[in-house]
Amino acid sequence: MPTPKAYSVKAYSAASATAPLAGTTISRREPTETDVQIRIQYCGVCHSDLHYARDEWHFTQFPAVPGHEIIGQVTAVGSAVTKFKVGDIAGVGCLVDSCRTCPDCQAGLEQFCTSMVMTYGSSDKHLGGPTHGGYSQSITVAEDFVLKIPANLDPAAAAPRLCAGITTFSPLHHWKVGKGQKVGVVGLGGLGHMGVKFAHALGAHVVLFTTSAGKADDAKRLGADEVVLSKDEAQMAKHANSFDFILDTVAATHDLNAYLNLLKRDGNLTLVGAPEKPLPVAAFPLIFRRRSLNGSLIGGLPETQEMLDFCGKHNITADIEMIKMEEINTAYERMLKSDVKYRFVIDMASL
Ligand code: NAP
Ligand code: ZN
Ligand code: ZN
Repeated sequence: MPTPKAYSVKAYSAASATAPLAGTTISRREPTETDVQIRIQYCGVCHSDLHYARDEWHFTQFPAVPGHEIIGQVTAVGSAVTKFKVGDIAGVGCLVDSCRTCPDCQAGLEQFCTSMVMTYGSSDKHLGGPTHGGYSQSITVAEDFVLKIPANLDPAAAAPRLCAGITTFSPLHHWKVGKGQKVGVVGLGGLGHMGVKFAHALGAHVVLFTTSAGKADDAKRLGADEVVLSKDEAQMAKHANSFDFILDTVAATHDLNAYLNLLKRDGNLTLVGAPEKPLPVAAFPLIFRRRSLNGSLIGGLPETQEMLDFCGKHNITADIEMIKMEEINTAYERMLKSDVKYRFVIDMASL
């Protein structure tokens, strides 16, 4: 593939796992005929951004520019682009390309394609080096990986749908969560608060597990029917053997066995949280009552569109706290203290 022309944009990057994020300049490609160029207006702050910037998953390519909840305005389109025109509001989530031909891509499950290109942290096949995320002024993405965002939405509050939204919607959808089911969501952060909203909208009886007593009222406002303080063993014991499904969004080390014990026979615990260190699992909570433990990774493009439509129908959007780009390091520290209500979104005009 010939190297396309590049242009420079301002961005925020981490130079190493221990360096705070700081201003820099990166290259973006001029749109090829199938590309959409977007001026980034808002970018959500996912805990994955922090894991990546601090190399907690051990694949970070520095300098690291995180950000995969991107909303902006289309500034140019390639000659073969049909879905977008200049001026449209567009979204980009965690994926910017895939092979498009493997069985996963054919099934619309691009997130499982072994050649998928993540918005940040993959190899950039156009310009070389790592792909760079949304903590930047502009991005150029293949049309097929750009999502249409209805113009009537608050674009800042729509940004977190592109990772937190699809990551929680996809497993609830896949496991057919709905009316008559008791569903748990563990952790009320960016993912968790979207998970509570979706599970409630799907008609489930929703129980939120939190380590933060102060979040109980918010959890109920967001759609939880019950709130359990997970550190309180007596509260946890009351729910033993009673859940159809539990979605675990926790970003740090915690006890999975405590949640497995809350599942009914054949119940299912799905991990979306991706802590740095392995989580020990005991055999007995799984083999007694034939319970399952599994995971889920974001969602493919068709399901992301379905999630956006579901959000439109049920009026689901994120609860956000807007920050300036220069506040990102403080925001990361607050995220580590579970002090986010419930998603930071960067106003990219501040870059
Ligand atoms: P977040 O906003 O920081 O929320 C995580 C929540 O987990 C916290 O608000 C807190 O909720 C709870 N928590 C934190 N530390 C805890 C601990 N030590 N023990 C128990 N609970 C704790 O993070 P996020 O952006 O939602 O992301 C959550 C995780 O999902 C991250 O690991 C991220 O990388 C991962 N992720 C995975 C995917 C995927 O495709 N699978 C996609 C996006 C993100 P309470 O205060 O309510 O306890
Ligand atoms: Zn994310
Ligand atoms: Zn593929």
